[in-house]
Amino acid sequence: MGEYLVRCVSDGSVQPPYALNCSSDNSLLRADYAAKRLELKPFPGIWRFYDWLPLNEIMPEAWEGSATYRSSGLAAEIGLEQLYISFNGYWPERGARLKTCSFKELEALPTMQRQRERGDGSTLVVASAGNTARAFAEVASMTRQPLVLFVPEKAIPRMWITVEKGPVTLFSVKGDYYDAISMAEEVQSRPGFLPEGGARNIARRDGMGTVMLDAALKIGRIPDHYFQAVGSGTGGISAWEASMRLIVDGRFGSNLPRLHLAQNVPNAPIYYAYNCQKPAACCAEMFDDVLFNRRPPYDIPGGVKDALDATRGRVYGITDQEAAKAKSLFEDTECIDILNAPSVAVAALAVAVLSGAVNPEDIILLNITGGGVSRVKEDFAHNALQPDAVVSRWEEAVEFLESGS
Ligand SMILES: *Cc1c(COP(=O)(O)O)cnc(C)c1O
Repeated sequence: MGEYLVRCVSDGSVQPPYALNCSSDNSLLRADYAAKRLELKPFPGIWRFYDWLPLNEIMPEAWEGSATYRSSGLAAEIGLEQLYISFNGYWPERGARLKTCSFKELEALPTMQRQRERGDGSTLVVASAGNTARAFAEVASMTRQPLVLFVPEKAIPRMWITVEKGPVTLFSVKGDYYDAISMAEEVQSRPGFLPEGGARNIARRDGMGTVMLDAALKIGRIPDHYFQAVGSGTGGISAWEASMRLIVDGRFGSNLPRLHLAQNVPNAPIYYAYNCQKPAACCAEMFDDVLFNRRPPYDIPGGVKDALDATRGRVYGITDQEAAKAKSLFEDTECIDILNAPSVAVAALAVAVLSGAVNPEDIILLNITGGGVSRVKEDFAHNALQPDAVVSRWEEAVEFLESGS
């Protein structure tokens, strides 16, 4: 049995295990694990980190985790001696086997396992415009757990998985991502359905935190710097939280890594907020709309701002043009395709090197949050998910779900 308490970051008060919110204020919750020293468990993939995942069991059907390797190509090209890449996508030659090709799978796995442990027969409801929906659809299909997805119709072509579709209901939403979110919220509040919680879900954050754990084990210590492209910034919070646990462990050094978070301007609320700038007028198309988030968990206890302050972090505003250039640079030097979102992090790394924000000999962890879509096609069929229904109002979705179709 995993042992942990769920506490408010703000005042440390203990909350019920499946809470998403702190009862006294808007603080994030955080898992407080009984194991202060990370002991790898003899389980596959991400489940090795069971000690620091908020679970009581593991699921045997799905397990693939993060993979870290030391870069030679990109490192030499931009002049870094110790650049480590956490590749969160599909690249089996490097040990990376996330078949929906993004680190959202690291969030979906522990979230679906916790859902199973609740044992109340409830169905998880998720709204997403891309990688999150694919990751949850793939995992729920492998584990045969019910799942309801709300996806804007424009994003439906991105809905593919590599396994046979399980008990997943896919709603194509007439409208944008925010319409999908509001519909999901209506359904989540009905009996038998539950929200997944986003940044407030400790299973999601600690799943993503395994990126830092895997890297620290590979490198032998906590890196000096952590680079990631962010929309909500949840991955940044996760890296910070995992690093704090590693410091308490004592074997991986005593310094927090500096967070270098990258956003795609002009849709970059974290960038503008942290650098005290006025947001630019916003923005129809983005280099990658997985980085689109209007209300990131920024100014709340345990949120993005706290993570940046604690690590003396930086936030970069990257243009489409810089991201496109960085994408080619990465693909040419590392020889694997990556998604557009992580190109924004690669661009930030290049800026950081040029501006002297990192030194050539520093230990750097670059989180490639998604990639290998071309590579996975060589090994697996893309099984396109057809919507079960097209909806323009939440009532239509409820009616569909209640009709038991
Ligand atoms: C979701 C996502 C991000 C942003 O992650 P957050 O930490 O939640 O802001 C970056 N890259 C990819 C590929 C993603 O799917």
